[in-house]
Amino acid sequence: MTESRKLLKGETGDWEVVIGLEVHAQVSSKSKLFSGASAQYGAGPNENVSLVDAAMPGMLPVINRYCVEQAVKTGLGLNAKINQWSRFDRKNYFYPDLPQGYQISQYKDPIVGEGEVEVEVDGQEITVGIERLHLEQDAGKSIHDLSPKESYVDLNRSGVALMEIVSRPDMRSADEAAAYFTKLRTILRYLGTCDGNMEEGSMRADVNVSVRRPGEPYGTRTETKNINSIRYVKQAVEYEARRQIEVIERGGKIDQETRLFNVATGETRTMRSKEDAHDYRYFPDPDLLPLELDPAWVEEIRKGLPELPDAKKHRFMSDYGLSLYDAAVLSQERAKADYFETLAEGRDGKLASNWLTTELFGALNKAGKEIEQSPISAVQLGKLIDLIADKTISGRIAKDVFAIMFETGADPDKIVEERGLKQVTDTGAIEAAIDAIIAANPEQVAQVKEKPKTFGWFVGQVMKSTGGKANPQAVNELLKKKLGVE
Ligand code: ADP
Ligand code: MG
Repeated sequence: MTESRKLLKGETGDWEVVIGLEVHAQVSSKSKLFSGASAQYGAGPNENVSLVDAAMPGMLPVINRYCVEQAVKTGLGLNAKINQWSRFDRKNYFYPDLPQGYQISQYKDPIVGEGEVEVEVDGQEITVGIERLHLEQDAGKSIHDLSPKESYVDLNRSGVALMEIVSRPDMRSADEAAAYFTKLRTILRYLGTCDGNMEEGSMRADVNVSVRRPGEPYGTRTETKNINSIRYVKQAVEYEARRQIEVIERGGKIDQETRLFNVATGETRTMRSKEDAHDYRYFPDPDLLPLELDPAWVEEIRKGLPELPDAKKHRFMSDYGLSLYDAAVLSQERAKADYFETLAEGRDGKLASNWLTTELFGALNKAGKEIEQSPISAVQLGKLIDLIADKTISGRIAKDVFAIMFETGADPDKIVEERGLKQVTDTGAIEAAIDAIIAANPEQVAQVKEKPKTFGWFVGQVMKSTGGKANPQAVNELLKKKLGVE
């Protein structure tokens, strides 16, 4: 059992957590799923509302071909079956922000069927099954807190295209759920089918959690709705698992219910008991024809797919000898992957990966910058690595040069030249420095055979007197010779 699959300890023994996610991802589309109104974020209240979105009598939906294409693309990116025939259903419920009185969704026959994704957790790979992906329209928004007496409805989101991606209950810890959500976001962003912008609500997860004794059948689950950050997914799972274990251990029973997450406390609370499919009185939408896809069109979309993160990850491992961990980090964003490939071109892949993930990502992180805003380009960082490889500078000096590059954006060779940072490999110059130090420190010279630490002190002195520029290997060898130590 891997680290991330660790069991949770209760008062009466071990428990296993079981998690499945339903993720709503907003399709990156200029217009809505069934109308021409803008789907752009940030407009004033009710500015992006067509007669269709407001459900005016007699208005008919027209399917947006671009949104269908994005759903197919996403399905292919999830290694899933594309259903040539699918259809739209009405999911009926009443709420002020749903003017039609029903949501157009897909129920029995979704556009995308079963698939799977690879997820990396703690340097290990797990596979999470995808049950389905379907297209549906978003509802509007009710605003209750502007006045004590009135509620407001904003229909800007009404009719915006969502892809609901339903996973199998294949995750076994909060970390696995968080890693899956992250991976899904990575795939969607590679494909360009959803911008993954969680603050703007482009990706929200309903988190299903149950607990069981290892080896037992699945327990009853709760569903915590509308979680819009990776950290909250983790918190919701942790809280729910603990709560359920306590309830069961006290002799209680878990109710299958829908719960709300409180971002301030990290707790979940009951919202309503879970509704069943029959509560929604699903039926095929008579205003829309079934969706039939031309296999040639699907093939064309498949051919146009970019290299996806998993393929990149595996290629980075085999071509550059990277570990799963580094390969996963570097393939997580396209910009990072592109940077790495430019850097690694014609160089040692592992060395390139080390400089990138520890030095550059570290510095960017500290400065609160994204890779796109890096003051050091891949070509420049590559030159720095070359300067170490051809022994122009030592690894130690390279870190200083890196810091100056990050600060000023200057080329490394220019910095090395201007500041006289070239490594001294000229043995004459090093020898002169050693002789001076030996002459000035007779006591240390006398001690060096008994106290091996003193040798290190000599190395330090020589490096100091040469401003850190002496080639450390040459210093070591010459010192050994002059001091007569092995
Ligand atoms: P519904 O459509 O009624 O919400 P589904 O069977 O489609 O129910 O499942 C919804 C989500 O709940 C899926 O992501 C699935 O993986 C997850 N799920 C199902 N059973 C469990 C369980 N026992 N524990 C945790 N998650 C579960
Ligand atoms: Mg559901």
